[in-house]
Amino acid sequence: MQKNSPFITLVTPDAPIAVQTHGGRAKCLQRLFRLDLPVPTTVALSFDAVHRLASGDMPDIPRLIEPFGDDQLLCVRPSSEDPDWGGPRAILNIGINHDRHAALIGSIGKEAADEIYLRFIQAYSEHVARLDPDMFDDIDLSGPDALRAALEVYEDEAEEPFPQDMATQLGGVLRSMARAWEGTSARLLRMAKGAPADAGLGLVVQAMVFGLGRGESGSGVLQLVDGDTGMPVIKGRYLTQSQGREALEAGAKSLFLTCDSRGPSLEEAQPEAFANLISHAQLMRQKLREEMQMEFTVQDGEVYILDGVRIQRSARAAVRIAVALAEEGIISHEEALMRVEPRALNELLHRQVNPNAKRDVIGAGVAASPGAASGRIVFTEAAAQASAARGEACILVRRQTSPEDVRGMHAAAAVLTERGGVTSHAAVIARGLGLPCVVGASSLRFQTKQRLLTARDGRVFREGDILTIDGTNGEVLSGEPEMLEATLDGAFKQLMIWADETRDIGVRANADTPADAKTARNFKAQGIGLCRTEHMFFEEDRLTVMREMIFADDPEDRRAALERLLPIQRADFVELFKIMGGKPVCIRLFDPPLHEFLPSNRTGMRDLAEALDLPLSDVERRIEALSEYNPMLGMRGVRLGITVPEIYDMQARAIFEATLDASKDGAPVVPEIMIPLVSAKREVELVKKRIDAVAAAVRTERGEAFSFRLGVMVETPRAALRAEDIAPHCDFFSFGTNDLTQMTYGLSRDDAGRFMSAYVQQGVYPEDPFHTLDAEGVGELLELGATRGRAAQPNLTLSVCGEHGGSPESIAFCRKVGMDYVSCSPFRVPVARLAAAQLTIQDKIG
Ligand code: PEP
Ligand code: MG
Repeated sequence: MQKNSPFITLVTPDAPIAVQTHGGRAKCLQRLFRLDLPVPTTVALSFDAVHRLASGDMPDIPRLIEPFGDDQLLCVRPSSEDPDWGGPRAILNIGINHDRHAALIGSIGKEAADEIYLRFIQAYSEHVARLDPDMFDDIDLSGPDALRAALEVYEDEAEEPFPQDMATQLGGVLRSMARAWEGTSARLLRMAKGAPADAGLGLVVQAMVFGLGRGESGSGVLQLVDGDTGMPVIKGRYLTQSQGREALEAGAKSLFLTCDSRGPSLEEAQPEAFANLISHAQLMRQKLREEMQMEFTVQDGEVYILDGVRIQRSARAAVRIAVALAEEGIISHEEALMRVEPRALNELLHRQVNPNAKRDVIGAGVAASPGAASGRIVFTEAAAQASAARGEACILVRRQTSPEDVRGMHAAAAVLTERGGVTSHAAVIARGLGLPCVVGASSLRFQTKQRLLTARDGRVFREGDILTIDGTNGEVLSGEPEMLEATLDGAFKQLMIWADETRDIGVRANADTPADAKTARNFKAQGIGLCRTEHMFFEEDRLTVMREMIFADDPEDRRAALERLLPIQRADFVELFKIMGGKPVCIRLFDPPLHEFLPSNRTGMRDLAEALDLPLSDVERRIEALSEYNPMLGMRGVRLGITVPEIYDMQARAIFEATLDASKDGAPVVPEIMIPLVSAKREVELVKKRIDAVAAAVRTERGEAFSFRLGVMVETPRAALRAEDIAPHCDFFSFGTNDLTQMTYGLSRDDAGRFMSAYVQQGVYPEDPFHTLDAEGVGELLELGATRGRAAQPNLTLSVCGEHGGSPESIAFCRKVGMDYVSCSPFRVPVARLAAAQLTIQDKIG
């Protein structure tokens, strides 16, 4: 062959072939040549050549076919940069004509020669001449006259005889494949799979090995692992007298590869060919450093490798494969870490709808918490609890959730709401509990009072009907499709160990309850970065005392109620400290507006009046007095701490007493106390003074020493701006990016779901800023707060504890601005650990 050109390259071990110029398939074939595997002669056409071809500039065909020798039939396959972007289908048997057909009859027999010619006529008619594929419907394709009849039909339809010239046939095939790639629908399809608009296509032209004819001939595919489980197993099929991937077609009389009680196998029929195939596949795995599916042909007992493609795999298989390759020393630990998409771990951490199951989608919303669960729908928190008491899985359906629904959420298998976005109450709690959750599903009609849910297509679902919530992709399904269980196997654990050895930013969990803390420990969080203490007050026994405290007329009565809450809080903290075994626990002082603890309906108010022995009108008046126009910007967080200081006093005492109790027979505890919603230095000064006083009192009373760290939750823009004033009073800052995003945009976290998709679709926001940290705006405040805070207090520990803490893009940002750790829902901890490790590796490789 003449020297390689930029357009036409003979694939040899050292030819200039790259994925970026010739595509993945051409590159893979070159690697197979380097391994000295029996690959038929192959020529690669570059992206440039194919692009020119599409606009009519035909490559030099005589030069292209020169390496194959006379009379060699060819096949052409697509070679895009990423095999997942697809491409036109392969065309086989190019070059067959009357003369070659006659010659083939002599070498491989009439039946096989007819079959080859027939197949090419069909493929050429459909893909090159663009004739109606139905035109062969009236021909008995297995009859003795099929070939003659097909040639006649072609001539009738195309109004010319079937082309006999190899150059015409090959040119036609190449042009049709190039044009198919450049067509609008193909472009849109691959762009949907992540391809750039101008993604190139290469083509590989290969000598045909027939898989048909005398002696044992056929074709098949083989791989060494299962793509669903990642477990080692020889998988694939072989079909005698076949080409391409026909062995995989439904109904084909294919053989198993290994001995199998269900039927005959290649191993038994052709032991030598089988042994060769296995050794080739093992060599490919070893040297290509990947699990590949091998496409092979057997011709007269001889094995040929036509192609190798990276096997498609589920997330759980991706983890097992990466870890197995690394454990065998085929790839490094770092490469194994880079091969798993962090978000894909969600598939392992939660039950999922089996991807092969039939999905009856009745509506969709925001995918707020991953995993899937089925159950009977209920519309109230009480019905959810009753359902749990009966041992029946239920789906809690609400317009939106409030703290009153938390117990119902605990009882439910999944949650569905009409309103809300990724940081709405339902979403945050569900993620913490590891419950599948879809929020903002406004395409469904919610009539919660009538206990009805109406689907887009008009189907009505009533209390007790079974639905499935798929929180991984935000879909609501009718019925109970088959599920795949969560799998935290040894491979997952190993990958996580390597991630921890690699990463350079800490990962803690947001955990409010002992159950959350246990999950956090299980997922190897390095501590609790945010314990939202208010969630502890929603248990039935505490709620009443809490309400008494809220209704207290004077500080004395309030103190009395708080004294009853103190031992309960102390016990909560002792348990948390013990579970965390000396790892840091950051406790946020009380944050929400008080009215969230009061009943919102008349029955609840009557119950409360009874419990407090007050007239109903008093209760109503009190609730009315506590209501606010804009509670998220009202009397909450540190504002409560300043105006009703007894609450924080009680919490500080509970924390300190628990510190001493838990340290007695466990690892020493150094609690972290965090003040929420700070916007001014004076707030910190006032709260700090009281907390220091409580600490001094507890030390004196107990005659024991302890230390603690005090910090501020930076979640108002002003706190970030005035970080330099605030930091000298603090040991740490934790950025609450949920509220910070809400306040920076002036965007309600509970209502944004209604218009967020329109905003993202129209490019107003590139992403939902509650989901992906807005690096430009909110990020600037973060950076500014971090820099100014550290300027005033160099030892300041910095972290993010908003929901963004678990998103890989946000972790990249946090790392860049020098945060010490991120804290996220326990179930997102593994995702964060892997994402953080990948960032360190990326920095290392540049
Ligand atoms: C925040 O605002 O980012 C935060 C973590 O607190 P919460 O979600 O409880 O308001
Ligand atoms: Mg907040």
